[in-house]
Amino acid sequence: MASSPSSELWFWHFEGGGISGGFTWRGPNDVNDFRLPGDAIDPPLPFAALCDRLGAASMIVGEQVHGRRVFSLTSGARKGWLVVPECDGLVTPTPGIALVVRAADCVPILLWVEGACVAAVHAGWRGLAGGVVATAVARLLRLGHRASDIYAALGPSIGPCCYEIGQDAAAKLSALPGGEDAVLRRGGGSWFADLPMLARAQLAATGLRGSHILTPGECTSCRGDLFFSHRREGAESGRQVGVIVLSPGE
Ligand SMILES: [Zn+2]
Repeated sequence: MASSPSSELWFWHFEGGGISGGFTWRGPNDVNDFRLPGDAIDPPLPFAALCDRLGAASMIVGEQVHGRRVFSLTSGARKGWLVVPECDGLVTPTPGIALVVRAADCVPILLWVEGACVAAVHAGWRGLAGGVVATAVARLLRLGHRASDIYAALGPSIGPCCYEIGQDAAAKLSALPGGEDAVLRRGGGSWFADLPMLARAQLAATGLRGSHILTPGECTSCRGDLFFSHRREGAESGRQVGVIVLSPGE
């Protein structure tokens, strides 16, 4: 049975500049598990409780299929809960709508322009290779924002210490900005990827300032005491989330 997120919800919470956001950890007895049943018509309890905690009127979650599609909600308020099919990025300039990205090794990325717009992106190796980060940033630019005004926070994800990849992924990731340094070959000929480094490089390539890109630098696979990890625990692993909401009345 689903439990409410514990009082020890946040791994990292930040607030100010007209936004509130953060990343969760697994919590005592894995209470902060944000797996999303495929048939969830109503928000599962952890999501509903998170929405309450943030004082958000509604919550949007992407289905997350390792693609590059970004959903923008650019007009009108909405109430309640929305799961967007085949979607790995969410953008809204509307206050009070919490955007949620789920992850258990992939890089959860939160983006914001102070007091103006928020976004959430799910970036694993396929998403990074497919350009989901650049697509999300382009959406913010299309709304009239400047790249130099965008901030990004990268949540906990699997590190190059643990993320072994196949040759096909290695070839694709090597060709990306930062790929030469982020794809590593180790003893025995195995390939490893540094997803956070690739995400940072893509954000920088779209014009974000290096000082605006924040990262906690923890590996989900190494830190089983803190995080769920698909690579370590398998397909039935729980999920942590990143969430961001534009505060009303700023
Ligand atoms: Zn590791």
